[in-house]
Amino acid sequence: MKALAYRGPGLLELEERPRPHAGKGEVVLHVDACSVCGTDLRIAAGAHRAYADASGRIPGHEIAGTVVEVGAGVSAAVGDSVFVAPNYGCADCRACRRGQVNLCENLRAVGITEDGAFAEYLLLHRELVAQGNLLVVVGTADPGVVALAEPLACVLRGSRACHIAEGDVVLVYGAGPIGLLHVTLAKLAGASAVVVCEPNPERRRRAVEWGAASAHDADHDELQAALEDSGAHSGADAVIVAAPAPDAQRQALELTAARGRVNLFAGLPRGGPGVELDTNLIHYKELVVTGTTASTNESCRAALELIVDGRVDIASLIDVRLDLASAQEAFELAGSGRVLKVVIEP
Ligand SMILES: [Zn+2]
Ligand SMILES: [Zn+2]
Repeated sequence: MKALAYRGPGLLELEERPRPHAGKGEVVLHVDACSVCGTDLRIAAGAHRAYADASGRIPGHEIAGTVVEVGAGVSAAVGDSVFVAPNYGCADCRACRRGQVNLCENLRAVGITEDGAFAEYLLLHRELVAQGNLLVVVGTADPGVVALAEPLACVLRGSRACHIAEGDVVLVYGAGPIGLLHVTLAKLAGASAVVVCEPNPERRRRAVEWGAASAHDADHDELQAALEDSGAHSGADAVIVAAPAPDAQRQALELTAARGRVNLFAGLPRGGPGVELDTNLIHYKELVVTGTTASTNESCRAALELIVDGRVDIASLIDVRLDLASAQEAFELAGSGRVLKVVIEP
């Protein structure tokens, strides 16, 4: 089978690999769609710590496929359309026992710590299948959109942490695919207006198309005025920072209303200088500042339902669909900032 392997910084090579077969408890999928994520771009650039010594590993963790082989003891059937929740843990640590698999000390993740889905076929290990990470898609759905249940699951966790309620005014930093998914979920949760902060003018335009009340560059006074125009005279009820920007984290605390919730959704590049925050803003405004990272089975299941039920329509997030042979181009486009989601369809 054809597979895209990481061979060092800047080197993703299309290689011929033996097609996997399912042993006891295992499943083999034909990969129908796998979308390219910021994490994949970091892997390709050689900046992901899980890939430090993983020469030859196949990335790809936003996965939709069709079951082609099942090992003994598996309930899925050949022909099932499925989505894969990529994160699974040791099943034994404190986090795993609480269902917080994303925080497992020995986290395993498809496409991160083991071969992923930028390939024609994908072997799902026994532990992953046993932990319920293989979710069957009921009905017909576009595999490219099904694959987006993974980023949506991550976004769902960040959005829930903000407890967005009917009539809230929400501020979102970043209008890449993640920021736009935050806009969508904030509106679904009843936000009366979502104001977006984004430096890229084309992405600002997309944000308004996606339902943002308005979109602005990072100027503090302009954002404050936009929040006031939306009825939030003393700041936003919830602020989500979906951009790896220290200044946005700082500004978020300033533009949050008393009792507001802040979600630091995006991590900052490792080894940076750190961020100096005015913690008095947290104290005197009684802010709740949260962080969320990655997805769990539960959030993947909920995200998949939102997509399959049609409660969120995120198909227009996909700007480009390419096959594996064009993976190089897919990665270049995904990293260019000119398009939103790029999906590889092996
Ligand atoms: Zn991802
Ligand atoms: Zn664990």
